[in-house]
Amino acid sequence: MALAITAYGTKVLRKVCDEITADYEGLQVLIDNMWETMYEAGGVGLAAPQVNKAIRLFTVDTVQVYEGMKEDDKEDLFEDEQPVKEVFINAKITGESDEVWADNEGCLSLPDLSGEVERPWAIEIEYYDRDFNKQKKTFTGYNARVIQHEYDHTEGILYVDHLSGISKRLLKGKLNKIAEGKVAPRYRMRFAK
Ligand SMILES: [Zn+2]
Repeated sequence: MALAITAYGTKVLRKVCDEITADYEGLQVLIDNMWETMYEAGGVGLAAPQVNKAIRLFTVDTVQVYEGMKEDDKEDLFEDEQPVKEVFINAKITGESDEVWADNEGCLSLPDLSGEVERPWAIEIEYYDRDFNKQKKTFTGYNARVIQHEYDHTEGILYVDHLSGISKRLLKGKLNKIAEGKVAPRYRMRFAK
């Protein structure tokens, strides 16, 4: 079942989320619903606070993007890395590269907006997968960008927080509109007001 996506302005998007255990009630159903919500809205990632749950859980699927990409873009954004489809539970970023790169980002909680965000090129991350097997992996490029964006959500951080003062000021009016529910995305949203 596709769930409503929380909009900019809802309190849950600003919470530092809690870790969960394998016996978290309804976890597998929630994960299935998050996949469905993400695909229906056309996202490459979705974090639990975006479906109104303040827990450390997010989904990422860069396979769909990768498959539609030109070879040149694949090389630029993925280098030799494979795209990922993965559930991240209780994730902790344990390392990041000094090398950074900027690219345009959007967010399902902030419809019709985008902004250029600088992020580390590579990260090392520890997490549990949906079967609660512990994982420790390194991701680079586009994979690392999407994972960092979703990880930020579990820390109560939005991509607009990374923008420069000027870019942020330019977006202020649009952000207020979202918070007031004055947007009409093609997916179901939950607004603060
Ligand atoms: Zn987002």
